[in-house]
Amino acid sequence: MSVASGREIGFTSRRTQLRLVSQLRAQGISDETVLTTIAQVPRHRFVEEALQSRAYEDTALPIGRQQTISQPYIVALMTQQLVDGRTDLGKVLEIGTGCGYQTAVLASLVNRVYTIERIGSLLETARQTLQNLGVYNVSYRHADGTNGWPGRAPFDSIIITAAPDTVPQGLLDQLGDGGRLVAPEGGRFGQHLTRVVRQGQRFRRETSTPVIFVPMLLGTEE
Ligand code: SAH
Repeated sequence: MSVASGREIGFTSRRTQLRLVSQLRAQGISDETVLTTIAQVPRHRFVEEALQSRAYEDTALPIGRQQTISQPYIVALMTQQLVDGRTDLGKVLEIGTGCGYQTAVLASLVNRVYTIERIGSLLETARQTLQNLGVYNVSYRHADGTNGWPGRAPFDSIIITAAPDTVPQGLLDQLGDGGRLVAPEGGRFGQHLTRVVRQGQRFRRETSTPVIFVPMLLGTEE
């Protein structure tokens, strides 16, 4: 992926992007590879034109179909929890492509991202955006992500960007040994970030920050 150039977004946006990274650092994001990636992925390219001036605010924004692009702090935090200091990450599975912003962040940190989205039109827009940005190490699937992507398992990491009441066991089973899954977990009024680390047949869970995500839904839509 190319670094967002001044020509593309203007120097004001570039400044606000770097200010966002400083804010994330002040809020406790410490993984330098994650911060560098956030500084490079042009978030404004993932939202419609009318919202582009707000793309480097630390806030969720609408992306259509009643879905949102996640708040940058949460993207950074989940990515940091997922990477967890590991290098050479091979394969990551993402459930909930949305506009593809989190996908782009992951794609610059791992060899290949397998991403699943249940709403076909969002998936196609995300695919187009990522291709326009020159991000090619992503495999896309229009499906209900509840059952993961068995044909491509096991994964080093799994991230869910919509909230299930509880993380489906079928997804945990697709983690490789030593793999990590990060997800918002809980119903509409009580979600927390949950990280699960797989050690052999044991799954160690840690719960952290309260969050608000759109719910993980069953089935697909065009
Ligand atoms: N990471 C995204 C966040 C998008 S919001 C971004 O940065 O834009 C969550 C997304 O999860 C929505 O697009 C929603 O349609 C999708 N989603 C919800 N339930 C799903 C499921 N069961 N399988 C796949 N995608 C799902």
